Amino acid sequence: MVEIIVDHEKCTGCGECISVCPAEVYEFNDDGKSDPVNAEDCEECCSCVEVCPEGAITVDVCE
Ligand code: SF4
Ligand code: SF4
Repeated sequence: MVEIIVDHEKCTGCGECISVCPAEVYEFNDDGKSDPVNAEDCEECCSCVEVCPEGAITVDVCE
């Protein structure tokens, strides 16, 4: 499975990754940060990594 990490120190909760992801991998957690709750559905498009303005997302296949 793809490994997805969101650095919550960097995440501002802008929601861009939630909007762009075609597989609905991300949801907001209770702190308003993005969590990759459905990583098993990832289609490896790397759009989330590209769109995040904070550079908070790491997807291992998108290095
Ligand atoms: S790489 Fe694509 S499919 Fe996977 S979490 Fe990011 S936006 Fe969603
Ligand atoms: S795009 Fe980046 S900063 Fe915005 S919610 Fe997603 S992880 Fe957080």
